[in-house]
Amino acid sequence: MERLDRFMARANAAYYATRDPYADFTTSPEISQVFGELLGLWAAVVWESLGRPDPVLLAEAGPGRGTLLADALRAIRQGAPSFGAALRLHLVETSPRLRAEQARRLPGARWHDDIESVPAGPLLLIGNEFLDALPVRQFVCRGGGWTERYVTDGMFAEQPLPLPPPAGGEGFGCAPPPLAGGGWEEGSVREVCEPALALARQLGTRLAAAGGAALFLDYGPEQSTFGESLQALRHGHPADPLTEAGSADLTAHVDFDAFSAAARGAGGVVYGPVPQGLFLARLGLFQRTNRLAREQPPRRAAALIDAARRLAEPDRMGRLFKALAVCHPGVPVPPGFAP
Ligand code: SAH
Repeated sequence: MERLDRFMARANAAYYATRDPYADFTTSPEISQVFGELLGLWAAVVWESLGRPDPVLLAEAGPGRGTLLADALRAIRQGAPSFGAALRLHLVETSPRLRAEQARRLPGARWHDDIESVPAGPLLLIGNEFLDALPVRQFVCRGGGWTERYVTDGMFAEQPLPLPPPAGGEGFGCAPPPLAGGGWEEGSVREVCEPALALARQLGTRLAAAGGAALFLDYGPEQSTFGESLQALRHGHPADPLTEAGSADLTAHVDFDAFSAAARGAGGVVYGPVPQGLFLARLGLFQRTNRLAREQPPRRAAALIDAARRLAEPDRMGRLFKALAVCHPGVPVPPGFAP
């Protein structure tokens, strides 16, 4: 019997180390080159507002194939060459297989197992679909208290918690924090992603002290809710998350509320979450796409425009996906977050 988060951590480590995730899913930077280009220019604008520190760390958490940063760097070299000269690339990636792929596209980068080992100094960090891969715990309301889910023989088993739920705040080692507005019902599930909350606290502390900003794009509801969102994709199709560990990509919705509160509690200033469609449109997704499309033959132009719409339309990736930034308190509202 294994606690769900430990099962998910083990399964995903095996999955990313041995499989090609892009055979199972695609992501925004793989859909349109404009995604990475806009995020690169976002980082350049924030760098300006930090007073152009040189050197500055440009980092990505979970870079996948390295596509986002390859597109970002191309746009930065064209549009913000002095930022291009000042930046040092740092990648947070645990999969040796993906590290090798990233090395081919991002020469000169340095790799880390976690954000804590990224060197000190002003930091601009980007994470697309990184937080959703971090392991969640699941708690179930039972008889006025909580049980926790474990995995055994491909099925869930519930175990009573050793201690009663604490009153709230940090350190819910044994139960999820209470939710504003109640909604407590027998059998309801609460998910908690402890590594995401730990990361939010680390970033809040680090960015408040050393300067910089972190931008996350990921999917999940705006407010913390009851409900389970653990899901698996195997060979590109929804699958049972609890069987054949390591053969499927496991993700869960990001709890943006809880992430923001943890980052704020540690001294960071949080912007968003803003729906991805609105965020990208504010950054100029359609202007840049149209400019690119004008120079292309009609079929390629139509594909570029459809890719942009896929990222931005509410019933595609525009609403469920959201952008959230954690910043040093001196950073003005970053691009995409001001109405
Ligand atoms: N950002 C990429 C890839 C998303 S998939 C894109 O948008 O295409 C998730 C990425 O996070 C993969 O690179 C995976 O290897 C990495 N990853 C997953 N869990 C991790 C962890 N605990 N620490 C560091 N990297 C992790």
